[in-house]
Amino acid sequence: MSLYLKYRPQNLKTIVGQDHIVTTLRNALVHNALTHAYLFSGPRGTGKTSFARILAKAINCKNLVDGVEPCNTCESCTSILAGRMVDLIEIDAASNRGIDEMRELKEKIQFSPTQGKAKVYIIDEVHMLTKEAFNALLKTLEEPPAHAFFILATTEVHKIPETILSRCQQFSFRRIGEEDIVQRLGEIAHAEGIQTEPDALTLIARISNGGLRDAIGLLEQMTIDKAILYKDVIDHLGITGPILTQAFYQALLNKDARTAIELIGQVNGMGQNLAQFTREMIAFLREQMLVGLNAKRDVGSLVRLIEIFSEAKLLLSQAAIPQLPLEIAVIKACGFEIELSKAKPEKAAEAPAKAEKMTEKRLETSDGSYKELTLEEVRQNWKQILDKIETPFIRMSFMDGEPISLEKGGLRIAFKSNTLMEKVANTMNQSEIHKAFNQIFNTKVILKLELKKVTLEPMVAPKKEESSAVVDMAKEVFGG
Ligand SMILES: [Zn+2]
Repeated sequence: MSLYLKYRPQNLKTIVGQDHIVTTLRNALVHNALTHAYLFSGPRGTGKTSFARILAKAINCKNLVDGVEPCNTCESCTSILAGRMVDLIEIDAASNRGIDEMRELKEKIQFSPTQGKAKVYIIDEVHMLTKEAFNALLKTLEEPPAHAFFILATTEVHKIPETILSRCQQFSFRRIGEEDIVQRLGEIAHAEGIQTEPDALTLIARISNGGLRDAIGLLEQMTIDKAILYKDVIDHLGITGPILTQAFYQALLNKDARTAIELIGQVNGMGQNLAQFTREMIAFLREQMLVGLNAKRDVGSLVRLIEIFSEAKLLLSQAAIPQLPLEIAVIKACGFEIELSKAKPEKAAEAPAKAEKMTEKRLETSDGSYKELTLEEVRQNWKQILDKIETPFIRMSFMDGEPISLEKGGLRIAFKSNTLMEKVANTMNQSEIHKAFNQIFNTKVILKLELKKVTLEPMVAPKKEESSAVVDMAKEVFGG
C-alpha cells in the first residue's frame, strides 16, 4: 500500500491544513444541520476526496465520537473503510461523463439506503460531466430525497455551471502550508523508520506546492535505504526556477560548495542558460539584501555575494569552460579562497573527488583485538581521541564530526562539511584516526561517515557565525 493511502486521514482531527472547513462541518454535524449538497473545490492533493469519505462516514456512523467524529469501528465505518458500503456511491466523472450515469443515479436515489442511515454520492472531478449530465444532476439536486447527500469535488470550479453552484454549499480547499506538510512528512517518516534531513523535507514541501498527496508520494519515491537526503531530492527532481535559486542559496548558506557546484552542473546539463541562472541568482540576492535592509540587519555578506556573482556574470561569455566562472564564485562564496603560494602539497592532489554519501571504512588494529565499546565511552573520550591524531589537518577535519550512534555496524559520525568528511574518508588519513582509537581503546572501530544537514534557516538571514568556525579552521589548516 502506498504511504499516501496508508496515512490517509480517517477522521476530522487528522485532516491537515483545512481548519476552516473542519470547523464549519464540525458545527454542522454537532447541530445536525448538514445540507444535502456540498462542493469541495481546490488544488489536487489537498484532501478533498479524503474529506468527502470522512464526511460520508460521519453521516452514517452508528457510534459517533464526541457527536462528530466517525468511530471507524462500527459496521458502517468499517464497510466504508473496506470500500464495500453499498450506500456510498463514488462516481469518477473523469471516466463517467455520460448522461446515462446521471439518469441511473436519478432513478436509484429514490430507494432508501439499504445498509446505512443515508445514501452518500461522491462525484469526483465533477467539472468533467457533459452539459446533459449536469442538467440531469441538477434535477436531482433541486429536490434531493431526505436520505441523500451529495459531495461534489473539483479542481476546476470555474467549469461548474452556475445553476449547480447555487445548489451547493461550497468549500474552497487551500494549498497546505509548507510547515504543515513538513510536519506531516516528519510524522510519517518517523512512523516508517525513515531517517530524514530537515532540508530534504522542506524542499519536498516546496516542490509539491501545497499538495500533501504529492508530497507524500515524493517522500516515498525518494527514500533510499530508509533515508531521505537533500542531495537525492535535488538529483531526482532536476530542479529549476525559483526552487533552484533557493536550493543554490541554501547550499551557499550551508557552505556546501559541492552541492552548489552540482546544481550548476545540473543547470548546464539541462541546457539551461547559465547567464539567465546567474541573473536570477543576483536578483534573488538583491531581494534578500533589500529585505535585510528594511529589517535593519547586517547585509554585508549579501553584498559580498552579489559582488562575487556579478563578477562571475561578466566572465561567463568568455569562459573556456562555460560553468567555470560560477564554480569559482561558489568556492569564493563558501569561504574557501585559496592562495596558491601558501597551499600545502596535499591540497593540490585534492580534486573535488566524488565521495559517497555514506562511506564505510574499517580501521584495522595491528593485533586484531576487539572490545565492546559504548557510545558514551566514545563521547567521553572524544577530546582525547582528537588529541592523539597527529597531523593537524586530519585532526581538524575529524573535529567537524560528531559521534551519533554506535551499533554492531559501526560508529556513525555526522559531519557538517562535505569537504572535511572527504578528508577523513581518505584512506591514508584513516590510518591515523585508527591509530588514535587504538591508543585510547585498544580496539578496532568501523567508522560510518555521513553528512549532517543544517536546519533550514530563514531565507532572509544568512548567518555567518554558525559555519564560520569550521571555515576558519579549514582556512588555517589548508592555508586559505
Ligand atoms: Zn462508525
